[in-house]
Parts: sequence; C-alpha cells; structure tokens
Amino acid sequence: MEQSPSAGPVQIVSITEDHKFVLDEKKLKQILFHKRALGKKISLVSIAGDFRKGKSFMLDFFLRYLRAKDHKDWIGREDEPLKGFDWRGGATRHTTGMIMWSEPFLLSLPTGEEIAVFLMDTQGTFDSNSTVFENAFIFALTLLVSSVTVYNIMHNLQEDNLQHLSFFAEYGVLAIDAYNTSPFQQLTFLVRDWQFEYETPYGFDGGEEVLSDRLRIRENQHHDLALVRSRLKQCFRKVNCFLMPHPGLKVTNRRDFDGRLLDIEQDFKKQLLTLVPELFNMENGNFLKEINGEMITSTDLFEYFKSYCTVFAS
Ligand code: GDP
Ligand code: MG
Repeated sequence: MEQSPSAGPVQIVSITEDHKFVLDEKKLKQILFHKRALGKKISLVSIAGDFRKGKSFMLDFFLRYLRAKDHKDWIGREDEPLKGFDWRGGATRHTTGMIMWSEPFLLSLPTGEEIAVFLMDTQGTFDSNSTVFENAFIFALTLLVSSVTVYNIMHNLQEDNLQHLSFFAEYGVLAIDAYNTSPFQQLTFLVRDWQFEYETPYGFDGGEEVLSDRLRIRENQHHDLALVRSRLKQCFRKVNCFLMPHPGLKVTNRRDFDGRLLDIEQDFKKQLLTLVPELFNMENGNFLKEINGEMITSTDLFEYFKSYCTVFAS
C-alpha cells in the first residue's frame, strides 16, 4: 500500500558491547514522523522472544498482509520468496536490539477513518550472549510502546515463559509514573511447532485451552506462581494464545529455502490465514495504541519512547 521502494527494516535501538543500549532518535523520528501517520491514531504490533525461533519469518507474513490491497488474497504467490525483515542470518545472530519497519501502513476503520500501523522486530532476548538486563530492557520497552506484543515461544507455553513475562512486565512498570488502567495492552503467546494437535487443536481455541490451564491458580500452588499469575492479569488488558503447527522440513532443513509458500506445509499456511488477519483486526479494542487510557499519535509515541529510554538508562 503506497510503500516507497526503499522501505525496509531499520534498527532503532541497539545494545553495545559493554551492554549499554542506544536509541537512535533520528531514525525513530523519521519513522514516527512519517507524513502518512501524522495526526492519525496508531497501532504498533511487535514480536519478541528467543533467538532463531522464526520471529522475523512470521513478521514477513504480517508485512504481506499489510501490503496487500485486498485482504482476502494477501498471502501471496506460491513461488514468491519471502522478504522484508531478514529471517535467516546464518549461524551468528543479528545485532541485538529493536528493528522497526521504516514506514507505517494505513488501514481503514469501518467508519472510513484511516489509522497508521507500525511493525517492530526484536533481536537478542534469551540467547546465551544476552544478559538478563538486556532481555528485560528490550522486552519491557517493547511492552510499553506496543499495542499488541506477540511473544514467540517454541513447542509449549511453560512456567518459565510466564515467570519471564511477569518479570519483564514488572520492570516495564517501573518506567511509568502513574497509571490508572492496565499498563499494557495485548499480549499474544505464539506457540511455534505445537506437537499435540491430537489433544489440543491449532489456533486460538487450542491456545485458549493451554493458556487457561497454565494461568489457573491451583490450591496448594507455590505462592510465587500464584503471584506471577495474578500480576499478569493486572498488567495486561488482554492475554491470548495461538498454537501454530510446524512449517515442515523444507523450512527447517533446506539450505536453499527462500520462504516460498510452495515449500511450506499446508497446515501452517492454513493457520496463518487465521492468525494474521486476527492480529490486525481493527475491531479488537486493543489494536489502537493507548497510553493511560488515551489514544495517542505517532508523535506522542516518539516522546514516550524517549522518556522510557531515559528512565531505563538512569
Ligand atoms: P528469529 O531469530 O526468531 O527472527 O528467527 P528467523 O525468523 O530468522 O528464523 C530462523 C529459522 O527458523 C529460519 O531458518 C526459518 O526458516 C526457521 N523457521 C521459521 N518459522 C519456523 C517455525 O515455525 N518453526 C521452526 N521450527 N522453524 C521456523
Ligand atoms: Mg529475527
């Protein structure tokens, strides 16, 4: 949708060798002050989680959806390589930090009002080279600035995922002066390579089963776990979960795989067709970015971004 040919991923936050983080204000400003977004309500959809678990690959399908003129036929041609955020990167990781798509996308509300959607990738959480601090910083900042955060996890939703999330949320709350609503909007657990489809089906329905099981506060449960669960309920306005199938062996094993649909398992494509439109569903009350209960614009977000970074740096 009227993207310029030079549109692409831009690193806006990086972490230096000596573990300091740097916000590239100039680049962030270029993105958030894009003329297409000025004065409009905004949405920021992000993905976070462990390294090399298909996050950027997934984001490139979000890009396809946002670029498509017709949202019924967005997934693309069978033989088209998947491009956008860099999703392979060989054996070494990319630069740690946060990467935003250089231009916003416009979507129209049923009223005809246009809103601007920004996409963000993160790099570096949880891999062995990152410190706990780096992870917490990237994740917490992501939660603060996004309206919808996709937490990408492999195989299953486990206790330590909940504990990490709770820790990141606590850390993020420190950057907020005062709040009278839930500090964060939507968190979507995206479970990749779900293997128990015979018990719990793919998609949001299966995800709901897994999530309600994991979030249930049981009698005799250790006090810390009960606390984590109740904190998550206080911190997020909406938490949901989607179970995604394995994309097939061509995706994971073939060196020359370029992302074309032809090489991806049917089940995976079928679930993409459910997941992606739902993440960008404008009837979802958490799609538009709010801070402290107020809708904000992209230029407001720029100021918040800077002030959160200042708080974390001190
Ligand atoms: P990121 O570091 O999380 O951004 O991971 P990438 O998107 O760069 O993908 C890393 C590798 O995982 C690539 O070789 C992809 O082909 C592969 N991949 C993509 N999606 C999936 C998935 O759903 N399951 C598995 N097992 N691998 C995937
Ligand atoms: Mg990546």
